[in-house]
Amino acid sequence: ANPDIDAVDIIFTNLSGVPRGKRLRQHEVLAVYESGRFLPGSVLVIDITGRDTEETGLVWEDGDADRYCLPVPGTLVRAPWLGDGAGQFTTSFYELDHTPSDLDPRHVLGRVVDRLVADGLTPVVAVELEFFLLEQDGSGRPMIARGLNSGEQPWANEVYSLREMEDFKPFFDDLYAACDAQDIPLESGISEYAPGQFELTLRHKPDALRATDDAVMYKRLVKGVAAQHGMIASFMAKPFAEQAGSGMHLHVSMADGDGNNAFASEDPEGSPLLRHAIGGMKEWLGESMAIFAPNANSYRRFKANSYAPVAPTWGVNNRTVSLRVPAGSPASRHVEHRICGADANPYLAVATVLAGMHYGMTNTVDPGSAIVGNGYEQAPEDYRLPNHWAAAIEAFKNSARMRDYLGDRFVTHYTTVKEVEMARFMAEVTELDYAWYMHNA
Ligand code: GLU
Ligand code: MG
Ligand code: MG
Repeated sequence: ANPDIDAVDIIFTNLSGVPRGKRLRQHEVLAVYESGRFLPGSVLVIDITGRDTEETGLVWEDGDADRYCLPVPGTLVRAPWLGDGAGQFTTSFYELDHTPSDLDPRHVLGRVVDRLVADGLTPVVAVELEFFLLEQDGSGRPMIARGLNSGEQPWANEVYSLREMEDFKPFFDDLYAACDAQDIPLESGISEYAPGQFELTLRHKPDALRATDDAVMYKRLVKGVAAQHGMIASFMAKPFAEQAGSGMHLHVSMADGDGNNAFASEDPEGSPLLRHAIGGMKEWLGESMAIFAPNANSYRRFKANSYAPVAPTWGVNNRTVSLRVPAGSPASRHVEHRICGADANPYLAVATVLAGMHYGMTNTVDPGSAIVGNGYEQAPEDYRLPNHWAAAIEAFKNSARMRDYLGDRFVTHYTTVKEVEMARFMAEVTELDYAWYMHNA
């Protein structure tokens, strides 16, 4: 063990993709890093509603038996925002017979990657994540953080504002240092449309699992560094109705057996293989939405002219569609998947995108013609992304293809937990209930 490390967090992610774990004292670290640690299976599957595992029953069927939590080699890094002696490593869950747990989102992704690799294609993934920096007012409601700004609000549109980046310079300095300490390949950052909203992009990696690990740990790190600066970093999809939402864009290409990009082409639309991959994702959108937009708030983000997509469309060098083939060199052709909210579980989102691509490439699915011009105007009412939570969960639950790719038990478990979450959300009586119906009923 490293003598100047005094505590290490072992981390797994729950269904929402949020890191959870256990803090080890220094003398425990080496033993756990070498041979893992038993943890109750329920910690993997208990989600936002927590105690509702009592309703789903899934935790109790085996008496909440222990599983094996094993480290992912090479992930032990420092966590500077927790102090000089703090570290962390990523783990994943295995059954006691050492088979990967089918409810661990990281393994769900691993199995889809394995199917692509078996067919000679290695997915190359890069993740872009948007988030808000918030403060809380006296009553706990979120407000947009002000940084070093004198505090006059409301602000104007802040897209690509360098001034706004400077307002939060102390935060960004610590953020960059933490990314460097964790080998998270942060590439660039911008200030996004809404005040207090930023987007930072991570360099692509020819290892989809590690690229997604980076995204998960990056979200933890952003939240940790923000807290150090007295702020809340939020990746919820639509914190303010009148402001831009936060998305998670996934850039994906496929390396062939020689390490060359299988989507490369002089044609700006990319190779036939890329067309089929897009066709597969498109055909799957209905049953994928429960993963891309996982909660009640996620659906508020899909709005015309917001840069969040509203229809199952694709196009070249076009930001008004769901699936964009960015402009670039023939060798770098790839697709940018723009549907996921920043609130989607990165492992499950990448797994679902890759599954759709694999399906499309295997079954040579035609994506139809590319949208030219404003994709919002070309999205008639009856040609929309499925934008209702209940319908999305239902479609996911009934999808034989999803069950094939993501695992039967996983799909059952995910939908059960989401149905409980949705029922609880719908049962809530809100301020709007009183405003609209108290006198109008
Ligand atoms: N904020 C937009 C969204 O919700 C994306 C903006 C962009 O193109 O980067 O997806
Ligand atoms: Mg953006
Ligand atoms: Mg983007």
